[in-house]
Amino acid sequence: MPQLAQRVGRAKPSAIMVVAEKAKQLKAEGRDIISFSIGVPNFLPGPHVYEAVRQALDHDSGQYGSNRGDPAVLDAFLKHMLPLGLDGYTRENVVVTVGAKHALYNLAEALLDEGDEIVFPTPYWTSYLDIAEIVGAKVTALPCPPEQDYKLTPAQLDAALQSKPRLFLFNNPSNPTGMVYTRAEIEALADVLAKHPDTWVVTDDIYNRMVFDGIGYHNFVHARPELRDRVIFADSLSKTYGMPGWRVGFLAGPVDAIRAVVTLNSNAITNVPEIVNAAAVAALTGPQDVPDAKCREFQAKRDQVMAVMESIPGLVCPRPQGAFYVFPDVSFAFGKSHHGRRIENDVDLCDALLDAKGVACVPGSAFGEPRALRISYTCPTPQLAPGLERFREFFAELA
Ligand code: PMP
Repeated sequence: MPQLAQRVGRAKPSAIMVVAEKAKQLKAEGRDIISFSIGVPNFLPGPHVYEAVRQALDHDSGQYGSNRGDPAVLDAFLKHMLPLGLDGYTRENVVVTVGAKHALYNLAEALLDEGDEIVFPTPYWTSYLDIAEIVGAKVTALPCPPEQDYKLTPAQLDAALQSKPRLFLFNNPSNPTGMVYTRAEIEALADVLAKHPDTWVVTDDIYNRMVFDGIGYHNFVHARPELRDRVIFADSLSKTYGMPGWRVGFLAGPVDAIRAVVTLNSNAITNVPEIVNAAAVAALTGPQDVPDAKCREFQAKRDQVMAVMESIPGLVCPRPQGAFYVFPDVSFAFGKSHHGRRIENDVDLCDALLDAKGVACVPGSAFGEPRALRISYTCPTPQLAPGLERFREFFAELA
């Protein structure tokens, strides 16, 4: 067989999918499995989205569309950005992509040459590492342990930017930790970024509508408007509107960088389909009751999960304020046994938890933090309490 390109060999299969697949297999064998593994929102968009799609079908031209995105979608996204504190952008500053993952992949292609340095905090969303490795970038991951609430400090950022990396990738609210940076924290990081003009900044803020406790969503551009010429904001319909399979993402940023992504779009996807555009416009401009209600529901579920985390002696869990993840440090359990089965690390722990209790979580090493595991609490509501009870029992049974 002819050889494959080296770049595909550098990307590893997603650890999240490995757990999800094992959970699926056990379920198929008849086991009672509760999955806290995959980060899907588990709700559907409002009926107006489906109605818009039905109408679009009646008028579908079936033709190729714009590489940048349908003007109606671009305008809807520009309007959607206003309450996030991102104003003054025009159609030239935005582009539609096939989900935020494709947006980030495009940016890696557009901004990073082989060997260029990319910096991001750890814990990180798994694809950051894989995408960086596919394009051959040099990764500098900045450790942000639970002792600092998994958050990057201005001093860490300042030190990391001394080497003039090409790209700093930031994620707020965070997957996997659920942490949200306060306004003061964003301002302090923005002050550091302002001192380092050689570095592009990408903010992956796809959970921006899922922020709890009234702390609000904040971003670097809002804090320091002069950063606008090198900050690129990524967003998506997936989590906010319960539309992960519809594959719609966005980027907003300086004209040249966005134009580069349009060029990549023109060579890779051409356009987002017409009926998907209709769904996107309806989601962005229609009633916002579904995302608003889901945010309140996730906040209540966060409380429910945290009550259990706080009841487990030895477990350390910074309190998340957004998204739908909790990321407890479970390292106190390493070296212990569960009914004679020894647990050395996060992978052993997640395996034993799945085998013994039928609860699927993702090992923290998938996100660069092997002391932790990730709980995604978007499972159907009736499963949450029993799943958490099994989780608590598992830790109580360690010896
Ligand atoms: N960024 C983060 C932090 C995510 O959690 C995800 C999805 N899990 C993505 C990007 C990709 O989202 P999309 O479905 O829009 O591709």
